Amino acid sequence: MLNKDDKIRLFACCIPVKGTRRSLICDTQRESIHLIPNSLYELIAVNSSLIYAKLIEGVDHEHHATIYEYLTFLIENELAFVTESPHLFPQMRLDWKSPNQISNCIVDMKDDYTIWYIAINQLISLSCQHIQLRIFSKISFEDLCSLLEKLDKSPIRSIEIMLGQCDWINTDTLNEINKKYSRIFSLVVFDATISDDKNLHQEMGRILFIPENLHSSLHCGKIHSSLFNINIPTFTESHHHNSCLNRKISIDTEGNIKNCPSMSQSFGNIRDTTLQQALDHPDFKKYWNITKDQIEVCKDCEFRYICTDCRAYIENPDDMYSKPLKCGYNPYTCEWEEWSTNPLKQKAIDYYGMREVLPEFQLKPDFVPPAQAKNE
Ligand code: SF4
Repeated sequence: MLNKDDKIRLFACCIPVKGTRRSLICDTQRESIHLIPNSLYELIAVNSSLIYAKLIEGVDHEHHATIYEYLTFLIENELAFVTESPHLFPQMRLDWKSPNQISNCIVDMKDDYTIWYIAINQLISLSCQHIQLRIFSKISFEDLCSLLEKLDKSPIRSIEIMLGQCDWINTDTLNEINKKYSRIFSLVVFDATISDDKNLHQEMGRILFIPENLHSSLHCGKIHSSLFNINIPTFTESHHHNSCLNRKISIDTEGNIKNCPSMSQSFGNIRDTTLQQALDHPDFKKYWNITKDQIEVCKDCEFRYICTDCRAYIENPDDMYSKPLKCGYNPYTCEWEEWSTNPLKQKAIDYYGMREVLPEFQLKPDFVPPAQAKNE
């Protein structure tokens, strides 16, 4: 029960973000969000500590109960606390710094694995921390293991592997890979014919089966609430840099060095250009500092600091500040819709030549999702 003179202070890790129609409080420590009305956001933004007796001064009586409810909501959800000394609890700084020239990399491969062997030592020298390895052709168990051997004793912290269904993929082989290579953060099997994952070892990383045939980088750039990153590194980085392309380097299936494999501009081929030379190109970092606060529509969205971005596929290909094409969220109505059927996006869909990879073409009719299979 709150007293009318209680001083209430938001926890430093619980940060309000204002959108056009509604706001949210991002609990960066618990990695959760709480949607709130803009009127509560305004109360929080204007008052460094919230005191019921003061908040209701000069306010019509009919709104008093709402204000009381707001404060109770903050306390009950452990977003705020009561203190005698709110001034002793400063706000969290939103600075973001990284010692790494490159923090993450995408390597796409199709049959030719020499790209990997050329790139990996350079990535280690650049202190790259995370790699996403996407293999768009059938790979043997032995070849995959020898690619992963290169990570052993390297400073690379994590690798996410995406590969298509192959004959050798079963629970035993995936368990073996997952146990042997501790850097694996996740292993995604696309075009999956397996749907029962209950015997898989999940200790070191995640193993996922998805039915879609993700056979090219045209599948990138999807925006969905399930892909939000609610944590301090993402939240702070998003205030200063692009949440997808900052400190990223990529190599496409042909060996072209790019910001992202889905983008057209190449900065040289890994066979005759070093990653450092590509990084030194004056255009290489041009997207690194485009934040959601500069992007049309996103700048009005309450999710803008936890949402990833995509500059490869955008609604208006002539405007590098336009909204990601594959986002179906409308911050002016607060509704999610299927992005690919939006009439206003059809021109861009054709421009990028991605009609054949749209969601309605992807699902296999006989596929049983793992969660559903478990319940049967
Ligand atoms: S409108 Fe922008 S910030 Fe909001 S969910 Fe879509 S892509 Fe993310």
